[in-house]
Amino acid sequence: MPPPTPSTRRLLTAELVSIGSELTVGDTRDTNAGELARSLTAMGVRVGRLTALPDDLDAVTEAFRLGIARSDVVVSTGGLGPTPDDLTREAIAAACGETPVVDPGLEAWLRELWRRRGLPFPELNLKQAWRIPSATILDNPNGTAPGWFVGRPDGRVIAALPGQPREMRPMWADQAVPRLRALGLGTEVAARTYRLTGIGESQVADLLGERLLRTANPIVATYARTEAVDVRVSATAAPPRSAQELVDEAAATVLDKLGPYVWATGETTWSEAIGRRLEDLGWSAAAVEIGTGGSLSALFGDADWFRFDEILREDAPAARAHEPDGGLDVDPGAGPVPGTDLIRFARRARELGGADVGVAVRTRFRSGDTAVSIALSTPAAERQVSRVVFLTGGLGRSRAALAAAAFVLEALRGPASEP
Ligand code: AMP
Ligand code: MG
Repeated sequence: MPPPTPSTRRLLTAELVSIGSELTVGDTRDTNAGELARSLTAMGVRVGRLTALPDDLDAVTEAFRLGIARSDVVVSTGGLGPTPDDLTREAIAAACGETPVVDPGLEAWLRELWRRRGLPFPELNLKQAWRIPSATILDNPNGTAPGWFVGRPDGRVIAALPGQPREMRPMWADQAVPRLRALGLGTEVAARTYRLTGIGESQVADLLGERLLRTANPIVATYARTEAVDVRVSATAAPPRSAQELVDEAAATVLDKLGPYVWATGETTWSEAIGRRLEDLGWSAAAVEIGTGGSLSALFGDADWFRFDEILREDAPAARAHEPDGGLDVDPGAGPVPGTDLIRFARRARELGGADVGVAVRTRFRSGDTAVSIALSTPAAERQVSRVVFLTGGLGRSRAALAAAAFVLEALRGPASEP
């Protein structure tokens, strides 16, 4: 086999192959492909395909053969173990038309691993010392499965990584990525995400308009996620215009149309957004939840600023104690409502948590949907609102927590923070 000739091919496209029957029978979730796709995309590589395959030599060989015919980079994970069902090495060798031989350096390293533990070396593991002539070894400091970095004569590349995520990740970041970058990986990219609340995805699409959503570069895309509708603006450089310029321009249009709905950028969570605002104000917060099953607590997690959280069932005596008229919800509208029962819970949260801000949330299922009342007590103001969120059960309760978070953030950014 001739040594790979240096190529000027830029590595702009990639595909991912996840190998292992545990994936195709559904025992293990393929998280590797998603992580690698994200990483490659961030480096300006277009990922055209993710494939998961069982431990079947023909299928895996075919995937590599097709992969290196249509993509600049093929990254595989899995199938690098010592057992006969681990056949990624055989498949790559077959796809490249090369024959594996035992690499003396690798064999010595493997035998040493067993010697150190005082165990006889299982000859089965010798397979992990295999190498084809065009492969460079990617060391595995976290396991016994070394990876392969295979340069093809036409400049394309195969990177074979172990399936174990904790072995795969460092090998990818520390060894495969630097090699790929040295060969010329990806193109300049830029991206910005706006997180929206109080608006549905279809209304977002409507306001953005078809022209903006169909442009190929920059790309404006909407994603309906649990905690927000995200609008992601991304671009690749189109000389003389940089990727950043293209993103900035499209982002300005997005903000122009949707600005009032934006509550955060990037991957900011509700807990982080509220936490940052509280930090600006020098405040902490506490909550009492009634009938939510703790969904607010689940949303805020164990944030530093969240000092106290009491979760009450709707029928708990403490929850009923403050209810007027046997427990019917009577808290309509926005604005300061001092003295209503839910406000008392917000005050109690402040008091018991020794916090500056008290939040009280109460949910009730009502004809297929969830009614949620939210009360807020801060040193500057007291506010209360009622909302109805879609569906009941766990989904309704999570949406109720999101509605509460949105109300709290909006209030803390506005009236409830100004004396
Ligand atoms: P292997 O390298 O094929 O021996 O895989 C070792 C282990 O890594 C498997 O048993 C799985 O638990 C895990 N694993 C393999 N492939 C993946 C994948 N694509 N995503 C997440 N975990 C994986
Ligand atoms: Mg396997």
